[in-house]
Amino acid sequence: MKGRVHSIETYGTVDGPGVRFVVFFQGCPLQCKYCHNRDTWDVFGGELVKSRDIINHFKKYLSFYLNSGGGLTASGGEPTLQPEFLRTLFAETKRLGANTALDTTGHVDIANAEIFLDVTDLVLLDIKIMDREKHKDLTGVSNERIINFSKYLEKIGKPIWIRHVVIPGITDSQDDIYGMANFIKEMDNVEKVELLPYNKFGVEKWKALGSEYPLEGIKPPSRELLKDIAGDYQSLGIEITIG
Ligand code: SF4
Repeated sequence: MKGRVHSIETYGTVDGPGVRFVVFFQGCPLQCKYCHNRDTWDVFGGELVKSRDIINHFKKYLSFYLNSGGGLTASGGEPTLQPEFLRTLFAETKRLGANTALDTTGHVDIANAEIFLDVTDLVLLDIKIMDREKHKDLTGVSNERIINFSKYLEKIGKPIWIRHVVIPGITDSQDDIYGMANFIKEMDNVEKVELLPYNKFGVEKWKALGSEYPLEGIKPPSRELLKDIAGDYQSLGIEITIG
């Protein structure tokens, strides 16, 4: 089985428990204005790689992953655009006794979800913003499919970590925080909620592709703003960490 892969990281520490082998899949259905992996968008880009080669690479450091309670994370781009390839990697990872985590936009076709969810231990769900129109403006797509997938994960009791990127002036209004907090509170499968500061790491990739960076004038949030927002979440009964 072959799949389109953007890149691989062998020592990830934030995308799931323990130490992670992170496979960045090629192709994304969103076009986030702040995308730090702009070069993952093209579904025909990246490199065609055999799942067997990826697993052999993973096995070289297997003891690190196993000893730390870690494993393999599929990230992107959007891994679920290649559901069979995703399943193959996760099934092999589990056969080796390691943990599997799916880092997803949530823009998932539920009809495909059963292909890979039974071999997925944890879903890292990057929810951008709850307001439908703002979501469309920020990412190019409605969040309807994302919300439906989130509800589906709750229905089947799949553990999730929710990550919310704070972009000053775009995803940090009181309405945005309340909307997100209320949504999270309704779900009983959320193990962790993380605030991530917007960063400009991807700007050079936009320029290299000849595209204008859409959030040019926006600065990353201050530590104080992140702490204030974390306080808002906590006052609404949600434990939250700052990434
Ligand atoms: S979901 Fe991730 S990879 Fe896709 S456009 Fe948004 S930031 Fe970029």
